[in-house]
Amino acid sequence: MMNVLWLKALSCGGDTFSFLNAEQPDIITGFKMLKLNLLWHPSLSADMGDEIFGLFTEILNGKIPLDILIVEGSVPLGPKNSGKYFIWNDKPFKDWLENLAKVCKYLIALGTCASFGGIPAAGSNPTEATGLQFLRNQKGGFLGAKYTSKSGLPVINIPGCPAHPDWLMETLGMITFGKLSLKDLDEYQRPKEFYNHLSHHGCPRNEYYEFKASALEFGQQGCLFEHLGCKGTVCFSDCNIRLWLGRTGSCVRGGFPCIACTSPDFPDGSVPFFETKKIADIPVTLPKDVPKAWYIGISTLAKAATPERVKKNAISFKRID
Ligand code: SF4
Ligand code: SF4
Repeated sequence: MMNVLWLKALSCGGDTFSFLNAEQPDIITGFKMLKLNLLWHPSLSADMGDEIFGLFTEILNGKIPLDILIVEGSVPLGPKNSGKYFIWNDKPFKDWLENLAKVCKYLIALGTCASFGGIPAAGSNPTEATGLQFLRNQKGGFLGAKYTSKSGLPVINIPGCPAHPDWLMETLGMITFGKLSLKDLDEYQRPKEFYNHLSHHGCPRNEYYEFKASALEFGQQGCLFEHLGCKGTVCFSDCNIRLWLGRTGSCVRGGFPCIACTSPDFPDGSVPFFETKKIADIPVTLPKDVPKAWYIGISTLAKAATPERVKKNAISFKRID
């Protein structure tokens, strides 16, 4: 049996809500199958006040082993690195976290806020929020670049706004079966299993993308890259292969552009969300998997060769033929 503790810092709670939607398996079955014992969760557990801090003390004294610590939300360091924006039982949250991070075997940063700072760290970052081991794409964050948990692994980042429930469940599976090592993580410490794909892969609008047949307005069938801000070609996630919510949906399947929520520079690096930044009519954010000169040449040829059917459907609110 492995003990799991879940903490919430600066967070909307979206990763918890997302995880509650786990289906294959659901969270009760998944935890039973993986022999995970949930010590405490801020929304799902009944324990409050002294009971929790008693539990933390027993963990810190070594009486209760902490196998997996999951943190949702970014860590507020302000004001002036005191951590006093978030006091928990007379102590800054960051002090609890620092101590628990020293005794846990694995540490998971769940969601983009815990991984990279995310929404609380956006703009002027008034609370001095940071991710556990990154601030945006800079390694370091709260615990420092050299931090490793007792397993020898750095913080395991599972970004997403929110993270897909499978990304956490399968990571927990890899940990419990001893199948997660450093080589399974990418440069941002994300499990490659989920973040080795572009969210563009598997998008049903791929035919429109290939012909550069673009939607001009939301609700139309065409590709959302050229005008409506889609970042699926530069964002790493398997959203359109794995699918969400009963394996039926994804952002782009719902007509919403991918806003690159798994990226270290989300959300500042993704704005404007719904329009494509361009220079001389060429999108600034070109696909990561195609050289730029090729893209420009190929897109001119593709536009010239676009079949009538694709042209018409791209700007239609309903598939015509
Ligand atoms: S809508 Fe986005 S993800 Fe879909 S094909 Fe176009 S660029 Fe790719
Ligand atoms: S499609 Fe893009 S914005 Fe939507 S959940 Fe996946 S990574 Fe995030």
